[in-house]
Amino acid sequence: MGCRRWRTRLAELERCLPKPLLLEDPQREKRRLLVGQRLVRLCEQACELMTQEEQIDVAEGFKQWAEAVGGPYRWWFRDLFQGRCRLPELAPATMKELLVTWLSPDCDPMTQVCRGCGLLYPHPRLSSLRDLKLLPGKVPLVGPPPWYDFPVYFPSCPGCGASPNDIDWSHLVDRLDRPWMALDGYVGFAIRTGAIPGIGGLDGRKPLQRRRTKWLET
Ligand SMILES: [Zn+2]
Repeated sequence: MGCRRWRTRLAELERCLPKPLLLEDPQREKRRLLVGQRLVRLCEQACELMTQEEQIDVAEGFKQWAEAVGGPYRWWFRDLFQGRCRLPELAPATMKELLVTWLSPDCDPMTQVCRGCGLLYPHPRLSSLRDLKLLPGKVPLVGPPPWYDFPVYFPSCPGCGASPNDIDWSHLVDRLDRPWMALDGYVGFAIRTGAIPGIGGLDGRKPLQRRRTKWLET
């Protein structure tokens, strides 16, 4: 077979191959790398402030994440790299508090993201719905949420000091457009292309993604 025909067949074959459903945006890949580097740096700085016992427990948590995407940091790190929250620059003492608090077996897997800075930080799970108290002046399901005063580990957001009631549930962040999404430390979400269109059409979320990720271009 001549070289030219061989190349033509290969090109045809390539055109017929099924396209990946989820094409990773190279810019998102870069942001993921930068956020990963920030995460490692903040963890290193925080570990220097820990007791030896805390260091051992936190290191075990990192190991469980690295080996099986499990362990006490799985909700935080998963949502960070899926673009559902942001990792702002945090003081080493703040990062230490977060890492140590996440070790509690009572952390709620229904995670919350601060509307002010995009940080996802832990809160205790409710032992019973009876523990839930209404916020002053609020009526359930009337007016904008939140309606209830959830128990907290942090009386205010460790990243920006916003109220712990000023949050979004992390599983709903994909549908939202918050100012923190244009700041550094945010991976952005995956753009769906190919057979499964994104919300709002094939490229419906690209303009939003561009607005959200200005930080990398400045
Ligand atoms: Zn915040």
